[in-house]
Amino acid sequence: MAQERKKVVVLGAGYAGLQTVTKLQKQLPKDEAEITLINKNDYHYESTLLHEASVGTRSYEDIIYPISSAINEDKVNFIKGEVTKIDRNAKKVETDAGVFNFDILVVALGFEPETFGIDGMKDYAFQIENILTARKLSRHIEDKFANYAASKDKDDKDLAILVGGAGFTGIEFLGELTERVPELCNKYGVDPNKVKITCVEAMSKILPQFSEELVNYAVNYLEERGIEFRIGTPITATNEKGFVVKVGDDEKEEQLEANTTVWAAGVRGNHIMDDAFEGVKRGRIINSQDLTIDGYDDIFVIGDCSAFIPEGEERPLPTTAQIAMQQGEHTAKNIELLLHGQPTVPFNFVNRGTVCSLGQHDGIGTVYGKDIKGKKASFLKKVIDTRSIFKLGGIGLAYKKGKF
Ligand code: FAD
Ligand code: NAD
Repeated sequence: MAQERKKVVVLGAGYAGLQTVTKLQKQLPKDEAEITLINKNDYHYESTLLHEASVGTRSYEDIIYPISSAINEDKVNFIKGEVTKIDRNAKKVETDAGVFNFDILVVALGFEPETFGIDGMKDYAFQIENILTARKLSRHIEDKFANYAASKDKDDKDLAILVGGAGFTGIEFLGELTERVPELCNKYGVDPNKVKITCVEAMSKILPQFSEELVNYAVNYLEERGIEFRIGTPITATNEKGFVVKVGDDEKEEQLEANTTVWAAGVRGNHIMDDAFEGVKRGRIINSQDLTIDGYDDIFVIGDCSAFIPEGEERPLPTTAQIAMQQGEHTAKNIELLLHGQPTVPFNFVNRGTVCSLGQHDGIGTVYGKDIKGKKASFLKKVIDTRSIFKLGGIGLAYKKGKF
């Protein structure tokens, strides 16, 4: 009698989940495992380009593609469904499209904005999270310019934008604004000098991952284009007027006002993680060296839902698409080993570097340990973005959706 095929269930078709599946479908013959991919939407979105779609320098359609264009439907069963619960002991996953049993599970449900419980942040600030939030925010920004132009009693706050956080997301978002705002001023006949964009950052140093020279380059670039930085200024609340911040040694409260308030100050793992496993902090679990989790050698947790600490180190790696994709590739390898009854192997992250864009034509970065800036950094960012599309969807998709 033919042996029953093992059920491999992958949750999430972001960088980590989709990479796992696209590798598995290449590695495994059809009769070796029943592969099911479950994702909320029937499209994949490039989270790494969400800042562009959120500002409107790139349309949201440009950063999505159908999951069917990356998977081999002969080998992978795709389910459009929202995961609501993971029962690790009963080995089943509940979704709004049914219940799915698994022998091997890959959890790759990605990130959500982390608001650290700051009062009003979820209600009054825009988030940079997915295609829906991007569409909402880019439309809102344009609507405020249109409203300003059309109003008799002009409200200067329509032209004020507050951005919380000067991490990678905040800086990349500001970079796109420096290109979009002049376009909007031109379109609606608005005086560019009236626009006020303020970035509020709690720490006294921004982007500590980069050298002082690169950070100064980025700050100068943005300041020359009208961005004002308020560093060492923690946001403590958000309301209908804007951010409430703490200033000075006596920590006096100040209200900053704008009709567009954006929270770009951190991410956490998916909330589904909180009840699914023990030891989850801010939606992330520390995974083992082979990317499974403690006590469950058939459950892999990868990408932004995981906190991977390389052997011998103390701190987890930052959550990035680069790591998520490498983890997806590695998980596919380990699943094949498990199916063949062989021991899994440890994950080893190869850090190729990081580039932070400053709009479409500039940036800063460290690539293979070397600092780069300007057009060269921007070019490399486009190479990286296109490479990831190629790795997930092949040459056809890279040609259609790539940045060249
Ligand atoms: P995600 O990309 O978040 O994918 C998770 C998937 O799961 C999504 O398809 C989602 O729809 C789906 N999902 C979520 N919940 C459910 C549910 N309940 N049921 C079913 N499906 C669900 N990293 C870099 O390396 N380089 C960059 O240049 C870069 N730029 C970035 C720019 C921005 C603006 C942001 C916000 C992040 C950036 N990052 C970058 C970080 C990177 O985007 C993340 O680390 C990466 O997306 C993590 O991949 P993932 O597969 O774990 O999760
Ligand atoms: P982050 O945690 O890297 O940065 C958040 C920033 O917000 C920090 O500077 C923090 O000090 C600040 N902040 C937090 N609370 C605050 C408060 N109350 N008031 C004011 N400021 C506050 O988060 P991110 O920028 O969203 O990045 C998330 C992850 O995605 C990171 O791992 C990052 O490496 C990755 N990412 C990478 C790229 C890239 O490689 N180009 C781009 C975007 C994001």
